[in-house]
Amino acid sequence: MSTIKLYDEDAYKTSFSARVLSCSESEITERLQKRLALLTDIPETVKIYSLVLDKTLFFPEEGGQTPDGGTLTICGRDLPVIDVAIDKTNTISHYVAVCDGSSFQPEDSEVSGNIDFAHRFSNMQNHTGEHIFSGLVCRKKNCNNVGFHLSDDIVTMDYDCPLTKEEIDALELKANEIITKNLPVFCTYPSEEELTGLSYRSKIEIDGPVRIVTIPGVDVCACCAPHVKNTGEIGLLKVIDFMKYKGGTRLSILCGSRAFIDFRKKQEKLVSISRTLSESIENTDLAVGKLYKEKNDLSYKLRQLQGNLLSIKADSIPDNVKHAILFTEDCDVNEARKVINSLTKKRGGYCGVFTGSDESGFSFIIGSSDLDCSVLAKELREKLNAKGGGKKEMIQGHTDAKEDEIIKFFG
Ligand SMILES: [Zn+2]
Repeated sequence: MSTIKLYDEDAYKTSFSARVLSCSESEITERLQKRLALLTDIPETVKIYSLVLDKTLFFPEEGGQTPDGGTLTICGRDLPVIDVAIDKTNTISHYVAVCDGSSFQPEDSEVSGNIDFAHRFSNMQNHTGEHIFSGLVCRKKNCNNVGFHLSDDIVTMDYDCPLTKEEIDALELKANEIITKNLPVFCTYPSEEELTGLSYRSKIEIDGPVRIVTIPGVDVCACCAPHVKNTGEIGLLKVIDFMKYKGGTRLSILCGSRAFIDFRKKQEKLVSISRTLSESIENTDLAVGKLYKEKNDLSYKLRQLQGNLLSIKADSIPDNVKHAILFTEDCDVNEARKVINSLTKKRGGYCGVFTGSDESGFSFIIGSSDLDCSVLAKELREKLNAKGGGKKEMIQGHTDAKEDEIIKFFG
């Protein structure tokens, strides 16, 4: 039996009374487990009950939007509503958490409900913002909005057309102009006849009455969710990110208080970076770019110096030493290979570079002009628990053996 949707009539109402039509204990699914985790102090005794009411203000998870939160007061107990779902028959189920795990039979009881209006209003701001942006994109580019998701963190939309940064910037500006104009947002249920003559966007095929949301001159779209009454209530719309996606564009926006909080967070980070670099905010990106380049240049110089140092160490090994084994804390693998190539040209035996420490273990490269390194690899695996291998001429790998064990191994 379909539940009367009170949120359809008034998106701003926060409390309601209803009658319980059915109540049953629900299995705690993975989804419910995740929703429960959003609440604090949940004891292991918790039980979840699914309640169907004759009417509700709780908007269910529908059309890519997260459900309302809040509480249902049943038999004198305030129970948190952790999830709200709607089925094909338009029956809305409220999943409530009973923390002490006690069972109850509230069928036919009167209940009162309160929704978390801060969360609801934020969803209304973001959802209506999406209508404005999608309406503008679809009109300008004659494309379709093929994906929508409104999570508690971000709104993501997919369009089946490419969009340039310049186009997105212009659309964002236009969307904010529409917000400032404080245009009305109408929700209506046109007759079938009226619908036939109406041009509107729709993401899915709809059975039964179609709810049309209109922002005059901007967008006409079939939609079941709560919206703000006037665009001015959205406050601000900011595009956060965009990327090419399946031949079209995936774009993320934030509206209203979420956009403001995001701005504050990023502003604080930017100020912190600019202070660390002693640069003005305007020059922060250039300063970070310069720093990044300097870091890369220094890394290159460091690699070369480490290579030079290793060469000097290699040259100081007396000719009568059987195997030329070098240890270094840090060295670029290409520099180590250069040193080994130079050593194997001058002498016989194994020539190796072990990079690392007793604590972190050692990466090694070993070469030889007259011995078979693959035989050595086998011995290293057996005696020093090494990993790795290679060819007769050169092997590489890693061992957790200590420096003195390695020295002993090579005698
Ligand atoms: Zn909508």
